[in-house]
Amino acid sequence: MPTRSASDVVVPLLDLSAQYRPIREDILGAITRVCDSQRFIMGAEVEALERELAARIGVAHAIAVSSGTDALLAALMALGVGPGTEVITPTFSFFATAGCVCRLGATPIFVDIDPVTFNADPSAIARAVTRRTRAILPVHLYGLCADMGAILATAAEAGVPVIEDAAQAIDAGHRGRAAGTMGLMGCFSFFPSKNLGAFGDGGLITTQDASLAAELRLLRNHGAEPKYFHSRIGGNFRLDALQAAVLRVKLPHLDGWTEARRRNADRYRVLFAESGLGSTVGLPSEPAGFRHIYNQFVILTPRRDDLRAHLSRRQIQTEIYYPVPFHRQVCFATVPSAVGSFPHADRAADTSLALPIYGELTDAQQRHVVASIAEFYAVTA
Ligand SMILES: *Cc1c(COP(=O)(O)O)cnc(C)c1O
Repeated sequence: MPTRSASDVVVPLLDLSAQYRPIREDILGAITRVCDSQRFIMGAEVEALERELAARIGVAHAIAVSSGTDALLAALMALGVGPGTEVITPTFSFFATAGCVCRLGATPIFVDIDPVTFNADPSAIARAVTRRTRAILPVHLYGLCADMGAILATAAEAGVPVIEDAAQAIDAGHRGRAAGTMGLMGCFSFFPSKNLGAFGDGGLITTQDASLAAELRLLRNHGAEPKYFHSRIGGNFRLDALQAAVLRVKLPHLDGWTEARRRNADRYRVLFAESGLGSTVGLPSEPAGFRHIYNQFVILTPRRDDLRAHLSRRQIQTEIYYPVPFHRQVCFATVPSAVGSFPHADRAADTSLALPIYGELTDAQQRHVVASIAEFYAVTA
């Protein structure tokens, strides 16, 4: 009998099939229910999902939308973000965070990140406030909340609302408060690779403010109320019933999936410490009072691209989130704040690497990842 060697172990970045297998019957039942109803857009499934998510996240209002990008777009529209206004946002995030600001004709003001948490530097946000600031848009990157205490203090002093980009952060926490409940609005994504993923695109906006919730519901459907009478110019930001039905099956499992990610993060910490890589590789931090939900487990490493190629040869998939910060994107070349200096975002873009962290990852797979990293630095040091 051939023995199993480490090289037999394959480690994908994410294995959605492993998550799907045990809930397959429930998912197919929910999809069948929607097919039998022949109601495909909004309707009872979406309303039920909104109630369940509002209760879970702990907000008065949850507005389901077509994607995380559209959640950000609608939230910015509801605040009147447009030409002549500014929105402060970290230069290091997924594209949509800044893309939505520019799509509305407003000016993003990029700020650098904290070198350890990867989230916006609160003192840089405070320095970026002007008379034209219409919103502060922090991102809870990788599933770790931004430093909301300091950011909310700056916002209160300036009299400016905060929109949380919580796309990667469902169930993340900050001093007992949940992501998406601290700002005026929270924006979530149900893109399949997020911790709560649909079978396609989906998103959510949370708020405690009833009139803002009404405005968002209006914007979601072309500003029409009643039908064909338009008081606002909105968009088609509606969610499909099929996506809502799938998300409702998945939602009760989210606690377990998040705990599995947190357990895997702890296991990586132990394995990295045991392998003697502590001073070579920077691991993600979970500052006191924060609850990280590890949508991504991102390390900082020297010779990142060579390491990535080595891991690929060892059948380990990794990803770079994100190789180009906003201030270096071609499409943002004319954004005035892009000329600034953002050393921490540049360093993150050049040295960060996301390792597999999904809940079903096995002990053997994680050992293979860490052993392969140790092998790389021992061999090429
Ligand atoms: C995924 C993501 C978005 C956009 O969500 P989509 O559902 O893909 O449109 C926005 N911001 C961040 C930080 C994200 O990770």
